[in-house]
Amino acid sequence: MAHVEKSTCRSCAAYCPVNVTIDGGRVTKVEGNPDAPLYKGFICPKGRALATMHNNPGRLKTSLKRQSDGSYTPISSSQLVAEISAKIGQLIEDHGPRSVGAFLGSPGLEHQALGPIMMRFMDAIGSPSMFNNGTIDQPGFMIAPALHGSWAGGRMHPDTLDVFMIIGGNPVISKQYFPQHPGNQLKSLIAGGMKLIVIDPRRTETARRAAVHLQCIPGEDPTIVAGLIHLIIDMGAVDQDFVQNNTRGFDELKAAVRDFTPDYVARRAGIEEEDLKEAARIIAESKRGDFGSGTGPSMATRGTLMSYLLYNLQTLRGFWAREGENAAMPRVLFPPQEFKAQPNPPYPAWGFGEKMRVRGLQQTAAGMPLGALPEEILTPGEGQIRALFLHGGAMIAWPEQDLVKQALESLELLVVHDVEFSATARMADYVIATRMQFEVPIMSQINEMLSLFHPGYGWIEPYGAYQPALFEPPPDSDLMEPWQIYYRVAQSLDLNLKYPSISDLLGIAAHGSDTENESPMMDMANEPSTDELYEMMCAGSAVPLSSVKRYPNGHLFDEARKTVQPRDPDCKARLELANETMLDELGQVRAQPLEERRAKNADYPFLFIPRRIQNSTNVVSSTDRSVLKTTYNPAYMNPGDLDLLGLSSGDKVEIRSQHGAIIGFVEAENDLRPGVLSMTHGFGKNPGDDYDPKRDGANVNRLTSWTDDYDPYHGMPRMGAIPVAVTAIRDA
Ligand code: SF4
Repeated sequence: MAHVEKSTCRSCAAYCPVNVTIDGGRVTKVEGNPDAPLYKGFICPKGRALATMHNNPGRLKTSLKRQSDGSYTPISSSQLVAEISAKIGQLIEDHGPRSVGAFLGSPGLEHQALGPIMMRFMDAIGSPSMFNNGTIDQPGFMIAPALHGSWAGGRMHPDTLDVFMIIGGNPVISKQYFPQHPGNQLKSLIAGGMKLIVIDPRRTETARRAAVHLQCIPGEDPTIVAGLIHLIIDMGAVDQDFVQNNTRGFDELKAAVRDFTPDYVARRAGIEEEDLKEAARIIAESKRGDFGSGTGPSMATRGTLMSYLLYNLQTLRGFWAREGENAAMPRVLFPPQEFKAQPNPPYPAWGFGEKMRVRGLQQTAAGMPLGALPEEILTPGEGQIRALFLHGGAMIAWPEQDLVKQALESLELLVVHDVEFSATARMADYVIATRMQFEVPIMSQINEMLSLFHPGYGWIEPYGAYQPALFEPPPDSDLMEPWQIYYRVAQSLDLNLKYPSISDLLGIAAHGSDTENESPMMDMANEPSTDELYEMMCAGSAVPLSSVKRYPNGHLFDEARKTVQPRDPDCKARLELANETMLDELGQVRAQPLEERRAKNADYPFLFIPRRIQNSTNVVSSTDRSVLKTTYNPAYMNPGDLDLLGLSSGDKVEIRSQHGAIIGFVEAENDLRPGVLSMTHGFGKNPGDDYDPKRDGANVNRLTSWTDDYDPYHGMPRMGAIPVAVTAIRDA
């Protein structure tokens, strides 16, 4: 007899509530939950595909160990823990704790206890070598508040906005900023009078709704934002009271943008001067606004500069929540936060904490620079990383796939967790077979945590949700949750782990401080359940987890709402408008010849940019393919460019950058700016694998390089606005 259970999709950070139909112990349907607040039953095709994903016939039911001939054989969980513990213990003894590294990527969304226990484990062994995907995604947006300072009153509530501007992002597909049914949210906000401004080389699903779309040359986002600042100052639209009372550095900023005249910006960015002025006019006439960005500007390099300038523009207009307003994003499963109409001062953005052994990179406000990890693995000497716990699709999602392969192959120990034998799992010494998302309880805390680092995540309203695991693992399986590897290896090495309270942990991670509240130790004799870990993670939360558990559809907790309080009388903090490093870099942008900036020439006449698609997130799994329009990732180009090259939709081409080449199939797209080629990340296979470009798609990261043209502050390599050549392949 079929019945319906409540749960949440964890395939991306939108965290949509779902109704799961179960019949005969199998998931037969996954739909949006119409009774959940905020979402109104929203779900995307990937969420609906959770039924296929859960019933994946290729799922791993036991962990695997690689043999000397490269084959894999099953290994029990207890034996796996014993062997990994022995190896880790030996490496620490021989080479010190820094030789053990860990990476946490998107799987942290499905396995929320993983991150906290991993951090406690790395702390217990004394290794600083912990990396996350923040430094190859949008690190600039996490670092900019450190340079600029932040507003303790938070952002203005979206329902009250006159203008929202998004740069290099596509919220309708990415779900950032408007995660609860983004299309409908934007539609109703625009119907209510909000003006949308989009800056993007492509007329995206979001740009189609925009009042102004600046369809710029890829990589010119800092130029445009500097131009908007120039215009806002020129139009006398600076919020003088706000700037006078809360900032410093206005005159230096004004001087730095003086030469970003509308004419120059329009020529440089390839946009119409009148459109730029119209965008500035909308911003100038709006009383309330908010600005955001997606991965586009970060991937095109200079993402830190663009993000910093965007914060400055927002501050010049005073677009921050004021005293007496309802605070956006009040805490629910985090300790309560007081919102105040005052600045938080800047804090260290980079150059603190652990130093990398390569390229002078160092820890940042966005985490350790992942851009250094492959070299840290491959560079011999003291401090070399020799073992890696890897939670994420490195082989498909990381830049320069060949170097990643070389680095992972050179490790003395590589441990990966996965539900299927993925491209990255095929590189591992041990593959931990783990639970599917409906086999793990879910709570909403992680999205609140993400909102601390990026305003595009989290819930504007005080939303909280918890649902229990819907299934026990299959009876013939021997699975581990990813956090258990750390707990059990710690047990085996006689290490004690501190209590995984998220707020304590973020006291370290958020600002690079090395001071930590005193945390009690976990009971290392009696392994906790995941539910017990969730209780520990929510210690001191604004709403007790036990209260959240009473609402199977999720709930808005009015008692957690906050009002922005007045400024402290003794508050002397100021927002920084003239960070010296950023304004120097802006000067370099202005001085640099265009062609040098983009490195485009007759040999590489097009610019590659990444794009989101509705049916996959960062890495396409075997089950994702069931909901893709094509199993591969087409190479979209403007029809005029295809004509010039004598190509038609469906033609096979080689796409070559200075760093590598891939095979693609072109597809005409009127919405794309001429001179641009656009493909989705997350496709392809490992080098040397049986490969069919039409079946598997192309890994666009083969066009990239970790070490060429990277952001100097956090090391993120150029992953967009990459000069490429396109050549027809005429199969015989
Ligand atoms: S947007 Fe789609 S993938 Fe993301 S949580 Fe919602 S249903 Fe899942």
